[in-house]
Amino acid sequence: CGIVGIVGKSPVAGRLVDALTRLEYRGYDSAGVATLNKGRLERRRAEGKLFNLQKKLADEPLDGTIGIAHTRWATHGVPNETNAHPHFVEGVAVVHNGIIENFSELKEELAAAGAQFATQTDTEVVAHLLAKYRRDGLGRREAMHAMLRRVTGAYALAVLFEDDPSTIMAARSGPPLAIGYGRGETYLGSDAIALSPFTNEITYLIDGDWAVIGSEGVAIFDIDGNRVSRPRQITQAAA
Ligand code: GLU
Repeated sequence: CGIVGIVGKSPVAGRLVDALTRLEYRGYDSAGVATLNKGRLERRRAEGKLFNLQKKLADEPLDGTIGIAHTRWATHGVPNETNAHPHFVEGVAVVHNGIIENFSELKEELAAAGAQFATQTDTEVVAHLLAKYRRDGLGRREAMHAMLRRVTGAYALAVLFEDDPSTIMAARSGPPLAIGYGRGETYLGSDAIALSPFTNEITYLIDGDWAVIGSEGVAIFDIDGNRVSRPRQITQAAA
């Protein structure tokens, strides 16, 4: 299982899937990629090997210079295309590694308020919570922070909002997540190996951190919403 993201200046879908191949060693049963293209979130997902996703992308290319991608190791919900990430709810796209421990109570609460669930995953509650907070009038950062205060468990998360073509949001509590710095581009990945084709200058988030990642700058916050600073390091991961 793995996550990658690019806030780029040239098309990202192919590069995202290339980066996912570097995370294959972690194991996975399905994969997916989402980009934001001319103000619309779009995705391609496939069960099985990354080759299946690559084939889909060859038939139906995805444009866009910002995107997130995921290899899934199913914990809740069978490995099929419907349960493959990214999950979309009302202009919010989410990929997740880990387990949202309190997903069933959140799902009940959200369903009681009218949410329609499309998957059997624990992850989908994250997208529904974000969508609900946006509907309630919260800004993107406020929605992200509010969501993080509701979920428990282990997660590496990446989020794209349809109304923001320049930012990826990320959060870590458990599985590793690193931000990579390039020239006019910024990257997100499960580890330095995933990011090695792009950059060797990275910052690892620590547990409880969440980040707002733009092409020219990154802001990292703790769970209380305070801005924090994390060291940048130069990795030796082979390109
Ligand atoms: N728990 C999530 C799911 O089953 C994420 C699994 C993963 O880490 O890839 O969809």
